[in-house]
Amino acid sequence: MDLDDVVAECAMPYLRKFAQEFGVQLPPEPGWHTLQEITDVAPADMDRFRNQLYDSTFFGELEMYEDCPAVLERMVAAGHEVYFVTARAERRRVITETWLREKGILEHATAVHLRPRGDFDPTRPRGRYDAEGSARYKVRLAQELELDAFCEDDRTISLALAEAGIRVYLFDHTWNRDVAHRLVERVQGWSDVAEKLGL
Ligand SMILES: [Mg+2]
Repeated sequence: MDLDDVVAECAMPYLRKFAQEFGVQLPPEPGWHTLQEITDVAPADMDRFRNQLYDSTFFGELEMYEDCPAVLERMVAAGHEVYFVTARAERRRVITETWLREKGILEHATAVHLRPRGDFDPTRPRGRYDAEGSARYKVRLAQELELDAFCEDDRTISLALAEAGIRVYLFDHTWNRDVAHRLVERVQGWSDVAEKLGL
């Protein structure tokens, strides 16, 4: 499973800080798509903001979705193996695992996978969100780990996983409402996942 906007609420704290930094007004239904709609902030400034925020304590201060830990516990008790697979860079492992431990859910995971350093395309602007590269990374891991299902929120990644034959539980967010695929099941949160898994 993914972390950001699946286990932890990430987009809203990110956007609130973004709006504060650049003095922009967030639209009524904000989400990751909002960043593409903002035209008066230069892409290089957006990249710099992302790098600085991600290098700060940001990932250590995210809120976990309330019903997540109980459902993970029931999943593991029912015999499921849980893997955290995030496109966060490998150098964020310490802050990521510390957060997972503090929230009491690291113990439920068989392993935590972050995107390895060599996996990033050096010709891309540093800090620019790379959905296609992240999708390739997650599909590769899902296949290597032989995952039965993947909890995800990103539209490009969800569709890539589904195209590769992997079942996706798509966490419903404003930025993925248009995603539809035979192997994609939309869920409203962790209780919904529990119900679908018969827990
Ligand atoms: Mg995510």
